[in-house]
Parts: sequence; C-alpha cells; structure tokens
Amino acid sequence: MAVFMDRDGTITEEMDYLKEPEKLRLVPRSGEAIRLLNKKGILTIVVSNQSGVARGYFSEEAVKKIHRELERLLKREEAYLNGIYYCPHHPEFGPPKYKKNCNCRKPKPGMLEKAAKRFNLDLQKCYIIGDKVEDIKLAQNVGAKGILVLTGYGRRSKKINPDHTAKDLYHAVQWILKKES
Ligand SMILES: [Mg+2]
Repeated sequence: MAVFMDRDGTITEEMDYLKEPEKLRLVPRSGEAIRLLNKKGILTIVVSNQSGVARGYFSEEAVKKIHRELERLLKREEAYLNGIYYCPHHPEFGPPKYKKNCNCRKPKPGMLEKAAKRFNLDLQKCYIIGDKVEDIKLAQNVGAKGILVLTGYGRRSKKINPDHTAKDLYHAVQWILKKES
C-alpha cells in the first residue's frame, strides 16, 4: 500500500512556482506525518505537477534540486520518501519537449501507473492526499481514496467530494492510519 502526496501546499508550503530550494518550507508536522507512515511500512510517494518547467519559469534541474532539499528537510525529521514523480509538461505552453497532452499531468494517472508498476501496487487500496481539485480527481480516476487538505489551495478547492477532508497532512495521515488499523 502507498500514500501518494502532492508536494506544493500539501507537504511543503505553497509558494507559486517555487524555484529557490532555500525557500522551501515544510508544512508544520508534515515530517512527522511521513515518519509515521515510514514506521508502518507504508510507501510514501510524491506526485507533483511542475508545469513551471514547460512555462519556462525553471528547469528540470531546478526541480530536482528542490526535491533534494525536500529530502534533506525530511531527513532532519527522520522521515523519507520512497519515490518522487513530477510532470514537467503543459498542454498549451512551452517548447515541443514539454508542450504536450501527456498522460502524467494530474488528474491524469500516468505518474500513479508508473509507481504502481515499480512498487507493485493496487491503486484501489492507495490514498492520495492533496490540496487541489486535480489531486482528488486523480484519486477518483484510479479508484483510490482522495483526501483534501486545507493547507495550500485547499480552502478554495471545495466542490469535489473527497473521501475525507483534513486540516493538514498530519491529520490526513492520522485518518489513514485509523482506517488501516
Ligand atoms: Mg498542491
């Protein structure tokens, strides 16, 4: 089983199109939340739309630097991620390499399908936590459970019928652990 998590506004504070690793901040208690999942042997996997690459705001190298910083911040809290997937594309913007109707931009399931193959997952038993409509739609598209967090854009993302709404990642994880126990 795995818990898929959005990055911006869910694990880390929302900063529109963040490109400087030193500005990355964890949402309070998200390190603790991920550590709890680690301890239960539940896989922790990030799935993140990074269309800033297609839009020319930053490079894929910059995205990878931010992910290294994310892992460093989590390590300080004795937490780790089993996988990080991101989509650099956008259907309308960017050079040919990035301007495409890909299958990985959430709410499309490409990143989850890749992870499911790699980790041998049954997606219907997995959870997806995020602050936006596309995170919940993604869950609905693969038959997983979707949890909306009210950090990031969460308070603006209402009419979408998540399986659960939680104050933040920590509380979302508490709900999952209760359900799984
Ligand atoms: Mg987000």
